[in-house]
Amino acid sequence: MSARILAITNQKGGVGKTTTAVNLAASLASLDQRVLLVDMDPQGNATTGSGVDKQHLRHTVYHLLLGQADVATVCARSTGAGYDLLPANRDLAGAEVELVDSREREYRLKSALHTVAPGYDFILIDCPPALNLLTVNALTAADAVLIPMQCEYFAIEGLADLVNTIKKIKARLNPALVIEGVARVMFDHRNTLAQHVSDQLKGHFGAKVFTTVVPRNVRLAEAPSHGLPALNYDRASRGAQAYVALARELMGRRRAR
Ligand code: ATP
Ligand code: MG
Repeated sequence: MSARILAITNQKGGVGKTTTAVNLAASLASLDQRVLLVDMDPQGNATTGSGVDKQHLRHTVYHLLLGQADVATVCARSTGAGYDLLPANRDLAGAEVELVDSREREYRLKSALHTVAPGYDFILIDCPPALNLLTVNALTAADAVLIPMQCEYFAIEGLADLVNTIKKIKARLNPALVIEGVARVMFDHRNTLAQHVSDQLKGHFGAKVFTTVVPRNVRLAEAPSHGLPALNYDRASRGAQAYVALARELMGRRRAR
């Protein structure tokens, strides 16, 4: 069975995409899954958060998309966390411009991952906070979309835009694309608005909403500055354990499919 390829996306900035990507990668790896994390954001936060120095990389996702290097050449291993990484840095911002006249420019990531997908159980793609060619590449390569969201005012509204985008990608580039699920992250149980938005979310998305709720937890915010997923920084922390629970849920859904 080939890898389940998940694009972790939300066009809104700072909602927890990278935190979810890095911590799910580490959690799935800790549950004996073979994981590849793809950093599709020129900010390179998933790269740094995996303990890889983004300033001194000879090959990155940029080279992969431009056909200048293959996955094996670009691939780095996250130190200690047990997953593979396709790293990125600001070079990636140039890819969009350079690919503008290329053939099949939306399919670059998909074709690059094609040959390595059978060697993994999960491939997670961390997307930038925009609907640009990089995100389109991720959505074209993915089997499904995992949407992290903060239960705040306007969150549902933003989600409607994302759902429309997914419909367009489905129609034009990737007919098999589905929504894997919506994950409530950075959740504050004491906030009544968060509870309200969470209920609304379940109303809209029903069983697509993951049961696991990731709380606001300072360990999740601290871990990246040490170049570690929370699981490797403070295993017992509520944040780390929430992502392990989310990983189990993902695996359960996969088995049920
Ligand atoms: P961008 O759109 O810029 O790529 P993002 O959606 O990837 O952002 P993150 O970088 O994962 O969002 O998170 C934004 C900030 O919130 C970071 O400083 C991160 O450490 C922090 N953060 C994320 N999740 C949590 C959480 N559950 N508890 C506390 N802090 C969190
Ligand atoms: Mg990010």
